Amino acid sequence: MGLGEGNGALVSTANPITATPMPAHPDPLHQRVLADQTLLGDMAFAVGGPFHLMYPQRVARNIAAFHAVFDRAGVGGTVYYAKKANKAACVVRVCADNSAGVDVSSIGELAAALAGGARGPELMVTGPAKSDELLWLAARHGALIAVDALDELDRLAALPTDMSAAVLLRVRPPGSSSRFGLTDTELRQAISQIDPDGPICLDGFSFHLTGYEPGPRATLATALIERCRAARAAGHVAATLSIGGGFGVDYLDAGRWAQFQERRDHRWFHADRAMAEFYPYHCRSAGAAMLTEILSTGGLAHRLRENGIRLAVEPGRALLDGAGCTVMRVQGVKTREAHGETYDLLTVDGTSLSLSEQWFNSEYLPDPVLWPARTPAPTPVPTCVGAATCLESDMLSHRRIPLPHPAQVGDLLIYPNTAGYQMDSNESTFHELPLPPKLVLHSEQQRFRWTLDRAIA
Ligand SMILES: *Cc1c(COP(=O)(O)O)cnc(C)c1O
Repeated sequence: MGLGEGNGALVSTANPITATPMPAHPDPLHQRVLADQTLLGDMAFAVGGPFHLMYPQRVARNIAAFHAVFDRAGVGGTVYYAKKANKAACVVRVCADNSAGVDVSSIGELAAALAGGARGPELMVTGPAKSDELLWLAARHGALIAVDALDELDRLAALPTDMSAAVLLRVRPPGSSSRFGLTDTELRQAISQIDPDGPICLDGFSFHLTGYEPGPRATLATALIERCRAARAAGHVAATLSIGGGFGVDYLDAGRWAQFQERRDHRWFHADRAMAEFYPYHCRSAGAAMLTEILSTGGLAHRLRENGIRLAVEPGRALLDGAGCTVMRVQGVKTREAHGETYDLLTVDGTSLSLSEQWFNSEYLPDPVLWPARTPAPTPVPTCVGAATCLESDMLSHRRIPLPHPAQVGDLLIYPNTAGYQMDSNESTFHELPLPPKLVLHSEQQRFRWTLDRAIA
């Protein structure tokens, strides 16, 4: 649908090259940070470049919400934080302090999780085709290993005789073309190959689905309860089911998101750029609420309880909801024209590699906030955001964001709620630009203090 159709009141004042506003849900802690007269400016002065600001207290809140769902359902449950979603050491520390484990997929992630305070048995090791070194280290530390291929079992069986290993068998979802997980035939072979007397202990099964729907997760978990029962009948422990991650995050309200989708117009984007699909920035049943829905679908909670099965979840993005923002400094402002209208084209001091959604030929949609706030202009200023590199395509925001007033060199642009995947999945020292450091916010006795995150990677 083009502009000029639909809701007249909203459209009549709209500039055809300006995207609809997409403010992130307000978060009291983030609002306090934005409202502070000096905090962000002082941080930017100290760092002298772009940076990420972490709010670890939000991770603690999100873990507690998952734990509360397990408690209410009377289901034994474990939260494993999917570490690939953010490398900050402060997140692992919060997991260690709040009885959450960590899901890792490489030696680097495993080492960082241990260094951050996780204990070996609190780790889940996922990922395809694990190296011998990773398998050995995982077994050595007593981590739970999600086996993705039969040869991983062979290689675990070949470990020194004094070593044992606890495994989940990762199931390829029925009817899927996923490259991960074991087929039915492979599962049968794996189960028959594991000796119930050791040294490999079959603890249960796991899966990780794409998409953010509760239904398919509940259905597959229910089917796997039967597999656990059959494996127990053959003498295995089979007391854990992991339903992976994919718990959604609700970044924007339903109305804003619907408006964006209905009115989306190539004229909103710099150089009329066509974008692939976008992450579903509005999510009806996000994070722990989605776990509630999964557990209540088809009596799953009841089935888990009556079979004494522990449910594991591996949320990445959902544990990082509200847990940080990304701050860039405006380094240049140009005025440009498109479709007969003028707009501002900013260059900030960072790159789109610090806002990783560009990885998917897409972009991060929650609107950045300009800091400090000044008197609003009579009409919003359509503004695109380019990166400090020589690549034409390196833009943080192709879409023209309606900023309340024109940006000036030295202002800060703060992208909200970026801790889940945006900060460091793609980070690079391209152009010999330094990696943006992560600062960690502490709020004690009514005042903010901050430290540098001390990730070892
Ligand atoms: C990436 C991944 C997760 C985390 O996914 P989110 O969407 O961030 O919750 C969990 N488990 C596995 C196996 C993964 O690959």
